[in-house]
Amino acid sequence: MPIPTEPRTRFDIGEVRLMRVVESEMPLLDPAEIYPDSTPADIEANLDWLVPRFFDPGSGRLVITIQGFVVRSRGRIIVVDTCVGDCKSRRRTAFDQQRWDWIGRLAAAGVRPEDVDTVICTHFHVDHVGWNTRLEDGRWVPTFPNARYLFTKDEWAYWSSETARAQRDRSGDYLGDSLVPVVGAGLADFVAMDHRINEEISLVPAPGHTPGLVGVVLRSGGEQALLASDLLHSPLQCRYPAWSTRFCIDPEQSRRTRMDFLARYAGTGIMVVPTHFPSPSAGTIERDGQAFRFRAIE
Ligand SMILES: [Zn+2]
Repeated sequence: MPIPTEPRTRFDIGEVRLMRVVESEMPLLDPAEIYPDSTPADIEANLDWLVPRFFDPGSGRLVITIQGFVVRSRGRIIVVDTCVGDCKSRRRTAFDQQRWDWIGRLAAAGVRPEDVDTVICTHFHVDHVGWNTRLEDGRWVPTFPNARYLFTKDEWAYWSSETARAQRDRSGDYLGDSLVPVVGAGLADFVAMDHRINEEISLVPAPGHTPGLVGVVLRSGGEQALLASDLLHSPLQCRYPAWSTRFCIDPEQSRRTRMDFLARYAGTGIMVVPTHFPSPSAGTIERDGQAFRFRAIE
């Protein structure tokens, strides 16, 4: 099926309005870089459905989307994840000192930073926290001045510990430039991994990729959707559910969490939206023999 030129960015779940705001979408990762268990033969065997949306044969890289979400529910405006960000010093060239102006795209979509009342960071990886802060007179200040930022206690405890120093150093000091300034400004709330935001929105624990990673469940009018964050990075993990990523803090736990999730959601028709799946990113999980398949919602 050809990829629509204008991929869908808006979805309704009952009364809840979901909007995707993309920061970047490009061939980014060599499969062997992200999936240590993958072989070139595995990729070759799946090219018929991977190309062109999920894999770019020219560069040999998986297409990875980086995006944040806006959830409107009962008068609230909630941002879920804040991408890589602009002007940040990062080790990965593709993320370093960028000027994608995601915040401008958010404004173009009708959301000004001061209107946002809640920011959820599903986990503390460099591509999910960047626009938590912006540069003002050489200082990092919270981008969303009127928001409560929800961080899970487990995620904060891990990333602020000595144990995590090596992983933090691998990416660049995102704790210092994108998380600490929010805590310092008194805007952070440290919440449980099953925290409920209101009748329509709650967090669901999905540990493994990072210790405090959460999905966000949207429920309204008998409908349901899951913002699945980094439970999956590519639909290849539906075909090969055992593949954890090189970036998973606990690959074994990540595998268990992912397999439970796939088994639970398969065949339910519930819309799932893994952050890094190329546009339109949303789809359903279907069973496919011993494995699973992702069916995009166009
Ligand atoms: Zn990510």
